Parts: sequence; structure tokens; C-alpha cells
Amino acid sequence: MSTHVDTASLARELRAGERRALARAITLIESTRADHRASAVELLNELGTDAAPTLRVGISGVPGVGKSTFIDALGCHVCDAGHRVAVLTIDPSSARSGGSILGDKTRMPQLALRDEAFIRPSPTSGALGGVGRQTRETVLICEAAGFDVVLVETVGVGQSEVSVANMTDVFLLLLLPGGGDELQGIKRGIMELADVVMINKADGDLVDTARQTAADYANAIRLLQPKYVGWQVPVEAGSALHHEGVEAVWSHIRRYAVLLRESGQFDRQRTEQAVAGLWDGVRDSLRAAIETDHRLSDTVADLEHRVRERSLPATVAAERLVAAFLSQRSSK
Ligand code: GDP
Repeated sequence: MSTHVDTASLARELRAGERRALARAITLIESTRADHRASAVELLNELGTDAAPTLRVGISGVPGVGKSTFIDALGCHVCDAGHRVAVLTIDPSSARSGGSILGDKTRMPQLALRDEAFIRPSPTSGALGGVGRQTRETVLICEAAGFDVVLVETVGVGQSEVSVANMTDVFLLLLLPGGGDELQGIKRGIMELADVVMINKADGDLVDTARQTAADYANAIRLLQPKYVGWQVPVEAGSALHHEGVEAVWSHIRRYAVLLRESGQFDRQRTEQAVAGLWDGVRDSLRAAIETDHRLSDTVADLEHRVRERSLPATVAAERLVAAFLSQRSSK
């Protein structure tokens, strides 16, 4: 059954900061129903592109490093500084398992109590478009609703860092004391994405190790090609649990954002990200159009079958499928 959504009033309510409107908008974005998708697109169009200045921060680190503890502390600090904070989680595994074990509000108990904060569990479906697109759209919705700081967290290391780095302004990497790159499963590529690094759990017996680890990483980073000339990636040792170093990390993030804004890099990055979002969207929409076109279902099944049994290279099958889709459209 198709329901009409009054997107103009939804946009108005969103801008007025109504919580229920925010929840409804996100539900639309996460829905796989075609009519919901159409309303979501209409809503994004209503909201336009010129929101007030915002800061998007990507946060990553292995499970157990202390991301939720850190975000709980950082989020409260940032709220105290007069901002409104949205926390979004990207968990690629939840798209597969159909549910998120980690995207729970209880991971950030203090922040969850704050009126100025909004915590969104990981989207649980990737059917129409990837989790990445949903997150990108959710960022826009949150910003329209007046959240001027958006923290995008990835669960785990290795799968979604690049997509998070491609949708945020500043990328923060959390690491554990001790252990080399190999031990922490940190790939060089991920180090290269980092704008700020924090060695967490610098407390109790681990204080000295954490300081040493911070020095080691600071040295290692100096050997990498700088991501942004003029910015020395700071490596801060701290303790999310004891709220130590959290403010320092926030001030590094702000300092970096100011530098980016002053040089024009901030806007250039956002522009590039918007263009990348355009092409991601095209890919997702095209895929959805093909997947939901019943007249193509035999062709889809046949090509997928042949790719599975390795009798046809995937790229050849892809070309054929797109060609079938296009020729069918033009003969309509
Ligand atoms: P996440 O999986 O990265 O979100 O990690 P959590 O925030 O859930 O933290 C994992 C465990 O490490 C929990 O038991 C936390 O209490 C603990 N933890 C987090 N930060 C610190 C810290 O700064 N010091 C210590 N000692 N433990 C911490």
C-alpha cells in the first residue's frame, strides 16, 4: 500500500528540530519500499543543500578500543561547548545479519540522556543502496534538524573506513596502547586516512606503554605521505574512561577544521564528496531499477547463475545486463 508523505511539512518540522520528524525522516531513508524511496528523495530535495556550517567527524578503531566510551565522553563535552551532536554508526556486518548488536543507545549512556544529542543505531538493511548512502543521507537529515556536529563511527577496522573518510571532514583513529601495526590489524592505508590519532586506555598500568605507543605512531606517521600539507597529524594518549585527553582530541579536530576552512580545502573536500555521492547514487539507483524490473528477472537470474558457476566473467555479465536494461527502456 502506498502512503503519501507530506514532505514539505516534514521538512518544516525537521528544520524546527522536532524529534518525531527526525525519526520519521530517517525511517523513510532506511526504507526499501519504492514509495518511501520516492518520498525520501523528495524530502532531500526540499531540504536543499545549503545547511548552516557543520562539522562531520569520522571515528574508527578496532572493536574494544573504546569508541563508544570515547564518543560518550566527547559527545557530552561537545554538547557542553554549545553544539548539538548526532552520532551515526556504520556497521557493515549489520546489513548482513539483519540486525545490529552494537548500534544500541546503551553504548553511550551519558550522551543518550542529553537533549542536544541524537544517537542513531546502524541501519539494518542495505537492500536499496548501500549502508553508505543511507548514512550520507542521514547526515544531511541530522544537519537540517540543527545538529551541527555529526560523528560517524565505523564498527571495526578494515571495511568501511574509506567510505566514512569520504563522507566526513575530519577522520579520527583510535588505537590501543602497545602492539605494532600488525598486532592491531591497522593497515597502512588506514593510517593514511587519519587526521588525528588517539591512543586510548592510557590509564592504570598502561600509561607508559600508551605514551610510548603514541611516540611510535607519531614517528611512523611522519614517514607517510602527508594527507594534507601543513598539518602534522597529532597523536594523543588519553583515557576515554577517565575523560582524559578527550578535550585535547576535540581541540585538535577543531584546529584542523579551521585550517581546512581557511585554505578552502574544507569546501573542496565537501564538493568532491558530493560528486562522489552523485555517482554512488547513480550506481545504487540503477541497480535498484534493474533488480526491481520484473521483465529482467530471467536475464538477471541467468547471468547471475553463469557468474556463479564461473562460465562468464562478472564484468561481461554486468555489461550485458546493463545493455539489456537500456535496450528494453528504449524499446518501450
Ligand atoms: P568499542 O567496541 O570500541 O565501542 O569499545 P567500548 O567503548 O565498548 O569499550 C570496550 C571496553 O574497554 C569497555 O569495557 C570499556 O569500559 C573499556 N574502555 C574504554 N575506554 C577505556 C579507557 O580509556 N581505559 C580503560 N581502562 N578501559 C576503557
